[in-house]
Formats: sequence, C-alpha cells, structure tokens
Amino acid sequence: MEEYFEMQFIFYMVMVGITGLMVGSFLNVCIYRLPRGRSIVAPGSACPECGHPLAWWENIPLLSWAILRGRCRSCKIWITPRYFLVEILSGAAACLLFWEFGGNLVQFIYYYIFFCLLVIVFFIDLEHWIIPDSINLIGVIAGITGGFFIPFGFSKPVPFFFPEGGLSSIGGAVAGYIFFGMIAVTASLLLRQEAMGYGDVKFAALIGAFLGFSIKLPVGFILAFFIGGLFSIPFLLIGKKRSKEPIPFGTFMAIGAFIALMWGEKLFTWYKHLSGGVF
Ligand SMILES: [Zn+2]
Repeated sequence: MEEYFEMQFIFYMVMVGITGLMVGSFLNVCIYRLPRGRSIVAPGSACPECGHPLAWWENIPLLSWAILRGRCRSCKIWITPRYFLVEILSGAAACLLFWEFGGNLVQFIYYYIFFCLLVIVFFIDLEHWIIPDSINLIGVIAGITGGFFIPFGFSKPVPFFFPEGGLSSIGGAVAGYIFFGMIAVTASLLLRQEAMGYGDVKFAALIGAFLGFSIKLPVGFILAFFIGGLFSIPFLLIGKKRSKEPIPFGTFMAIGAFIALMWGEKLFTWYKHLSGGVF
C-alpha cells in the first residue's frame, strides 16, 4: 500500500516537472516579447535573428536547445542559453513548490503563478532595467484575488473563501508599496537623481500581495538589499560599473521574494536565534 502511494507521488512529480518545463517555454516568450511591446500569443515562435519559424520539434523544452546545440537551424546564430535556463528553473521550481505546497492544489498553483511572475521580472529587469507595468498590474490583482482563497500558513482544512488571507494580501501589497515608495523618494532626495524606479515600487506591491502581511515580506525585502549589495560591491570595486548606473533591483527583489516564500520563516527563526532574541 505504501509503495503504491510512493509510486503515485513520483508519477505526480514527473508530470508536474514536465508541465513546469512547458510553462517555462511560455515564460521565455514573455521575457523576450513583453519589453519589445509584442504580443505574447501570436505569431508562433521564430528565430529572433532571421525570423525562421520554429517547427514543433524545434520548440520542445530543453531537448531542442540541446539537440540544436543552442543555434538556429536556419541562420546558425547563437541562441542565448537563457531559454534553456528558464525552462530548467520552471521545471525545478514546479517540483519544489509541489513538494512544499502540493497538499493544497490551489495553494500550489497560486505560488507557481507567483514564481512565474518573479522569473519574468528577474530576466527582463536584468536585461532591460525595466519592469513591465502589465506584469505588476496582473500580479497585484492575481495576488490579492488569490489571497481570498488561499489559506496563508494554515495546513488544516479551511473554508473555500478566506477573508483573512485576502486582507493579508491587501496589507502586504500596501506595506510593500509604501515601504519602497518611501525608499525611492528618500533616495532620490539624497542622491538628487532617480535611484529606484517606480517599477520597483509597484513590484514591491506585487510581492506583498503574494507573500501577504507576514514575516516573509520583510525577510524577502531585506534579502533583496543584501543580495543586491553583494553583487554590486565587486563591480564597484573593480570600477567596471559606475556607481551612477542603475542596478537591476527588481532582479534582486525577485530572488529575495522566492527565498522568503520557501524559507522565510525558517530564516527569521534562525536569525532570532543568532541575535539572541534582541531583534
Ligand atoms: Zn535564425
């Protein structure tokens, strides 16, 4: 009997992983097209260089990129490994989130949507230094709407409609917006130039809507500053990056938010223990 459940679980994991790879394929389309103002539904995928339309077998997650050795079949141009990376990440994250939240299918889907939005922002901000308004808007609406049906931090069965969760989402979104808004205003007054984009402020609201008004939210934001700092210092030291150049802060916020979603409470407990309960 136990073995039967184990087999069933492995089967679900494989199916979830494969679905994640296919979702990753779509996320690649969003990452490439959204900042260029193109439709994400039509036309079908094509080579960005020569426009060669991809046949179905050139569009299989992971496999196609590996078989074609990262080159376009027609013009042989080098296709960025980002395609491969996004697909791998999306498959792995689907398994990880299913492992953590799979007991509640709605919760699993909710957090997977959150992951998808984070991946899109991670790569677009890294390359273009912008966060599309459409993503922030869809994210805040999805995060708050879903919040009403997602039992935050409850493992026992709860009613389908869950006002506490929705209020927590609204609280998180408002808190994120105000917190980053204040940082943006303060920083621009001190530095006399725009130090943090308005896109980052709206993205903070998106993260707050999904993480809710919980300890995960400040943990995610602190991690973003910490990781951003770690990445910026070496560049500043070797002088490759002038300090006035913007850093893709949304990219670091996305990393911080995902870590906080998965391990935020554990990190906070660990930190409390380290600091001896002082903070
Ligand atoms: Zn081509």
